[in-house]
Amino acid sequence: MGHELPGAGHLPLCVAELASLSHLTGVTVISVDTTAPVVSVRARSHEVPARCTGCGITSDWVHSRYVRHPADRAIGGRPVRIELSVRRLYCENPACLKVTFAEQASGLTVRYQRRTPLLQKLVDTAGVLLAGRGGAGLLEPLNAPLSRTSVLFQLLTSSLA
Ligand SMILES: [Zn+2]
Repeated sequence: MGHELPGAGHLPLCVAELASLSHLTGVTVISVDTTAPVVSVRARSHEVPARCTGCGITSDWVHSRYVRHPADRAIGGRPVRIELSVRRLYCENPACLKVTFAEQASGLTVRYQRRTPLLQKLVDTAGVLLAGRGGAGLLEPLNAPLSRTSVLFQLLTSSLA
């Protein structure tokens, strides 16, 4: 049973569990279910024009919607599952090579990235400070399990390195 949230994108600040979800303010939260071991968040992107990844011109001409599941940081030690509905839009610039492009949800998604920026920052930091096995050892109890190879890969591609 989930808590249906009133209004688009407004989180009730009185719910302590949700206080750390400030990165969800860039999307419309439809529901949050905290009754299961995994905290489940359903959200959708705001219906605002998005910037084309090819030419930078904004468009609100929707091609389709699809669901992304960006991995996120745990809340209160509990893993979080995000079900985020985002749009694919047509680029309206006839000179642009992109016909369609996928929008990014501010605070939650980054192009070509499966993790939220919050989780990515944690993974990057663990990689820089502790490298492979140590980083994986730290991330596991934080409910962000990653193999030591993945931690090392993240370290090599990290902007912090
Ligand atoms: Zn374009």
